[in-house]
Amino acid sequence: MHCPFCRNTDSRVIDSRTADDGSAIRRRRQCPACQRRFTTVESTSLTVIKRSGASEPFSRAKIQEGVSKACQGRPVGEDDLARLAQKVEEHIRSQGHAEIEAHEVGLAILGPLRELDEVAYLRFASVYQAFDSLEDFEAAIAVLRAEREPTGAEPARAGSDSPPTTP
Ligand SMILES: [Zn+2]
Repeated sequence: MHCPFCRNTDSRVIDSRTADDGSAIRRRRQCPACQRRFTTVESTSLTVIKRSGASEPFSRAKIQEGVSKACQGRPVGEDDLARLAQKVEEHIRSQGHAEIEAHEVGLAILGPLRELDEVAYLRFASVYQAFDSLEDFEAAIAVLRAEREPTGAEPARAGSDSPPTTP
Protein backbone atom coordinates (compact mmCIF):
# COMPACT_ATOMS: atom_id res chain seq x y z
CA MET A 1 0.00 0.00 0.00
CA HIS A 2 1.61 3.26 -1.15
CA CYS A 3 1.74 6.18 1.25
CA PRO A 4 -0.72 8.80 -0.04
CA PHE A 5 1.54 11.60 1.20
CA CYS A 6 5.01 10.72 -0.04
CA ARG A 7 4.27 7.72 -2.29
CA ASN A 8 6.60 5.54 -0.30
CA THR A 9 5.89 1.96 -1.38
CA ASP A 10 5.75 0.53 2.11
CA SER A 11 3.51 1.11 5.12
CA ARG A 12 3.03 -0.48 8.50
CA VAL A 13 -0.34 -1.53 9.91
CA ILE A 14 -0.76 -0.10 13.40
CA ASP A 15 -4.40 -0.97 14.01
CA SER A 16 -7.11 -3.11 12.35
CA ARG A 17 -10.75 -3.17 13.12
CA THR A 18 -13.78 -4.72 11.51
CA ALA A 19 -16.71 -2.48 10.65
CA ASP A 20 -19.78 -3.02 12.84
CA ASP A 21 -21.62 -5.01 10.22
CA GLY A 22 -18.58 -7.10 9.37
CA SER A 23 -18.52 -5.93 5.76
CA ALA A 24 -15.17 -4.18 5.81
CA ILE A 25 -11.88 -3.94 7.62
CA ARG A 26 -10.37 -0.56 8.42
CA ARG A 27 -6.64 -0.47 8.83
CA ARG A 28 -4.72 2.37 10.37
CA ARG A 29 -1.32 2.54 8.72
CA GLN A 30 1.83 4.49 9.24
CA CYS A 31 4.40 5.35 6.62
CA PRO A 32 7.94 4.47 7.77
CA ALA A 33 9.40 7.19 5.53
CA CYS A 34 7.36 10.29 6.44
CA GLN A 35 5.72 8.91 9.63
CA ARG A 36 2.30 10.12 8.55
CA ARG A 37 -0.76 8.01 9.25
CA PHE A 38 -3.62 7.08 6.99
CA THR A 39 -6.56 4.69 6.93
CA THR A 40 -7.39 2.06 4.36
CA VAL A 41 -10.67 0.22 4.07
CA GLU A 42 -10.81 -3.25 2.62
CA SER A 43 -14.12 -4.69 1.55
CA THR A 44 -15.22 -7.44 -0.76
CA SER A 45 -16.01 -6.37 -4.28
CA LEU A 46 -19.63 -5.67 -5.07
CA THR A 47 -20.94 -5.80 -8.61
CA VAL A 48 -24.14 -4.23 -9.89
CA ILE A 49 -25.92 -6.05 -12.70
CA LYS A 50 -27.79 -3.62 -14.90
CA ARG A 51 -31.02 -4.38 -16.68
CA SER A 52 -29.09 -4.68 -19.95
CA GLY A 53 -27.07 -7.48 -18.40
CA ALA A 54 -23.95 -5.33 -18.24
CA SER A 55 -22.19 -5.17 -14.91
CA GLU A 56 -20.26 -2.44 -13.17
CA PRO A 57 -18.65 -2.02 -9.78
CA PHE A 58 -20.94 -0.67 -7.07
CA SER A 59 -20.33 3.06 -6.68
CA ARG A 60 -21.49 5.39 -3.92
CA ALA A 61 -20.81 8.31 -6.23
CA LYS A 62 -23.37 6.98 -8.69
CA ILE A 63 -25.97 6.70 -5.96
CA GLN A 64 -25.31 10.26 -4.87
CA GLU A 65 -25.53 11.42 -8.45
CA GLY A 66 -28.84 9.67 -9.05
CA VAL A 67 -30.39 10.84 -5.82
CA SER A 68 -29.14 14.42 -6.14
CA LYS A 69 -31.32 14.86 -9.22
CA ALA A 70 -34.39 14.01 -7.16
CA CYS A 71 -33.20 16.42 -4.46
CA GLN A 72 -32.88 19.51 -6.64
CA GLY A 73 -34.34 22.52 -4.85
CA ARG A 74 -34.79 20.53 -1.65
CA PRO A 75 -32.99 21.26 1.63
CA VAL A 76 -30.63 18.32 1.17
CA GLY A 77 -26.88 18.90 1.29
CA GLU A 78 -23.87 16.99 0.02
CA ASP A 79 -23.33 15.58 3.49
CA ASP A 80 -26.86 14.21 3.57
CA LEU A 81 -26.32 12.56 0.21
CA ALA A 82 -23.01 11.09 1.31
CA ARG A 83 -24.63 9.65 4.45
CA LEU A 84 -27.50 8.25 2.41
CA ALA A 85 -25.10 6.57 -0.02
CA GLN A 86 -23.20 5.12 2.91
CA LYS A 87 -26.41 3.73 4.44
CA VAL A 88 -27.36 2.19 1.12
CA GLU A 89 -23.96 0.57 0.73
CA GLU A 90 -23.96 -0.75 4.29
CA HIS A 91 -27.44 -2.17 3.82
CA ILE A 92 -26.48 -3.90 0.58
CA ARG A 93 -23.20 -5.25 1.93
CA SER A 94 -24.91 -6.56 5.05
CA GLN A 95 -26.85 -8.92 2.80
CA GLY A 96 -23.57 -10.55 1.90
CA HIS A 97 -23.99 -10.93 -1.87
CA ALA A 98 -21.13 -10.30 -4.28
CA GLU A 99 -23.57 -9.26 -6.99
CA ILE A 100 -26.73 -7.22 -6.83
CA GLU A 101 -29.27 -6.22 -9.45
CA ALA A 102 -29.61 -2.54 -10.22
CA HIS A 103 -33.27 -2.52 -9.20
CA GLU A 104 -32.33 -3.82 -5.76
CA VAL A 105 -30.00 -0.86 -5.40
CA GLY A 106 -32.96 1.36 -6.22
CA LEU A 107 -35.06 -0.39 -3.58
CA ALA A 108 -32.30 0.08 -1.01
CA ILE A 109 -32.29 3.82 -1.76
CA LEU A 110 -36.04 4.33 -1.22
CA GLY A 111 -36.08 3.80 2.55
CA PRO A 112 -33.26 6.14 3.55
CA LEU A 113 -34.38 8.72 0.99
CA ARG A 114 -37.87 8.78 2.47
CA GLU A 115 -36.37 9.51 5.89
CA LEU A 116 -34.30 12.29 4.36
CA ASP A 117 -36.89 14.14 2.27
CA GLU A 118 -40.38 13.01 1.32
CA VAL A 119 -40.61 15.17 -1.78
CA ALA A 120 -37.31 13.88 -3.11
CA TYR A 121 -38.50 10.39 -2.25
CA LEU A 122 -41.67 10.82 -4.32
CA ARG A 123 -39.66 12.18 -7.24
CA PHE A 124 -37.21 9.32 -7.09
CA ALA A 125 -39.94 6.70 -6.65
CA SER A 126 -41.93 8.16 -9.54
CA VAL A 127 -39.01 7.62 -11.90
CA TYR A 128 -37.72 4.44 -10.36
CA GLN A 129 -41.10 2.73 -10.03
CA ALA A 130 -42.32 4.23 -13.31
CA PHE A 131 -45.37 6.04 -11.96
CA ASP A 132 -47.53 6.70 -14.98
CA SER A 133 -50.64 8.21 -13.51
CA LEU A 134 -51.84 10.59 -10.83
CA GLU A 135 -53.22 7.57 -8.98
CA ASP A 136 -49.70 6.20 -8.57
CA PHE A 137 -48.67 9.42 -6.84
CA GLU A 138 -51.82 9.45 -4.74
CA ALA A 139 -51.21 5.89 -3.62
CA ALA A 140 -47.59 6.65 -2.69
CA ILE A 141 -48.64 9.77 -0.80
CA ALA A 142 -51.38 7.83 0.99
CA VAL A 143 -48.75 5.37 2.20
CA LEU A 144 -46.54 8.22 3.44
CA ARG A 145 -49.51 9.82 5.24
CA ALA A 146 -50.67 6.56 6.76
CA GLU A 147 -47.21 5.81 8.13
CA ARG A 148 -46.89 9.29 9.55
CA GLU A 149 -50.11 8.89 11.58
CA PRO A 150 -49.65 7.98 15.24
CA THR A 151 -49.60 4.23 15.78
CA GLY A 152 -52.95 2.62 16.45
CA ALA A 153 -54.77 4.51 13.72
CA GLU A 154 -55.97 2.37 10.86
CA PRO A 155 -54.24 3.70 7.72
CA ALA A 156 -56.71 5.51 5.47
CA ARG A 157 -57.28 3.68 2.24
CA ALA A 158 -57.22 5.48 -1.06
CA GLY A 159 -60.37 5.15 -3.18
CA SER A 160 -61.64 1.61 -3.40
CA ASP A 161 -61.40 1.73 -7.18
CA SER A 162 -57.61 2.16 -7.12
CA PRO A 163 -55.61 -1.04 -7.45
CA PRO A 164 -53.36 -2.10 -4.60
CA THR A 165 -49.83 -0.78 -5.00
CA THR A 166 -47.20 -3.26 -5.80
CA PRO A 167 -43.57 -2.21 -5.72
ZN1 LIG B 1 4.97 8.68 3.56
